[in-house]
Amino acid sequence: MINIGGELTLPPLAEAVVDLDAIAHNTRVLASLTGADLLAVVKADAFGHGFLEVARTTLNAGARWLGVTSQAEALTLRAAGIGAPVLSWLHAPDEDFGPAIAAGVDLSVASVAHLRGVAAAAGRVGRRAEVHLKADTGLSRNGATDADWPELVRLARANELLGRIRVRGVWSHLAGGETSGDPRDDVQLRRFERALELARDGGLTPEIRHLANSAGLVGLPESHFDLVRVGIALYGPEPRADRQVGLRPAMTLRSRVILTKRVPAGTGISYGHDYVAPAATTLALVPVGYADGIPRIVAGRGEVWIGGRRCPIAGRVTMDQVVVDVGDLPVRTGDEVLLFGDGGRGEPVVSDWAGWAGTNPHEIFTGIGARVARRYLPVRSEQQNTGRERVHV
Ligand SMILES: *Cc1c(COP(=O)(O)O)cnc(C)c1O
Repeated sequence: MINIGGELTLPPLAEAVVDLDAIAHNTRVLASLTGADLLAVVKADAFGHGFLEVARTTLNAGARWLGVTSQAEALTLRAAGIGAPVLSWLHAPDEDFGPAIAAGVDLSVASVAHLRGVAAAAGRVGRRAEVHLKADTGLSRNGATDADWPELVRLARANELLGRIRVRGVWSHLAGGETSGDPRDDVQLRRFERALELARDGGLTPEIRHLANSAGLVGLPESHFDLVRVGIALYGPEPRADRQVGLRPAMTLRSRVILTKRVPAGTGISYGHDYVAPAATTLALVPVGYADGIPRIVAGRGEVWIGGRRCPIAGRVTMDQVVVDVGDLPVRTGDEVLLFGDGGRGEPVVSDWAGWAGTNPHEIFTGIGARVARRYLPVRSEQQNTGRERVHV
């Protein structure tokens, strides 16, 4: 319900229903695949699934750490009373790192400039900063290059001796991992081992080494080390087509029909009339558009589930609406529309949308707009907080 103030509430035109039981299930499944600890990546509003709800659920189900990209996210977790270890990893070097350090949030450091900023802030707040040094082992995104690593290690050790920081972790991020036997994985593993060796030679004693994302967890056991950072797999999409592990989609995106009309053959539909009805048909108007995260590019491919069937989106996706060609189905105003779900009824799943849009499920999830209400289904199973039973594979 959308609260307009006072007594007045209106049902939302579209909602994302997040099944927290699926998040808990996925956490347990993923934890069972490794002897390492699990860091649940809850950046970007937990991939659009709801930040605090997902954070609490995944911790209760066995994740030990939370991962975010900003101090703002990390401090929101602390303000909500979440005391679990948190790593934040994307910062400008001139940020004031004081609030994160004071809140006991671990910080990633990928350059000398960032290290100086963190050490100075630690001095100001009078608390040692817990740091994870980030090596670039082949993604060429964040992280220190092989050339810059020795100086970063040297300065980190100097600041450890001053009591400003402790290097608790050394980490990196994989570039591939979507298919088995990618030779780039071996290169990254070797470069990571080398970075660890240089850190040890420089006097550092990182207790937490981490490299794997979801795909690495499922498909590259050598990348697990002490901690794996799982994002997309928590939310249901299988990270590796060649090694499905039984994850459950957590989000259902649904709306309802707000208007139907019968039109004759030859009727042009939506802007530009890209779609022309081949025969007399019924059109259903669904009040979601690209402002809600329905990519314009799915026109001509995208389908939604109405009246027990998948029906094509007719013509262009507009900002707030799509028109669906439901043929002769007896669809009525008020009928439920599933944009995607767990596929159990034959509705599309998020990976279908990713395929139609030429993107990944991550982008579909994080593109869901602010007008879409979030609703949560609670954890149903009794298996919470059972500790850390693991099946080693
Ligand atoms: C987003 C992110 C992850 C999660 O990746 P998935 O492929 O979604 O599991 C892990 N590590 C880092 C550094 C990230 O930015």
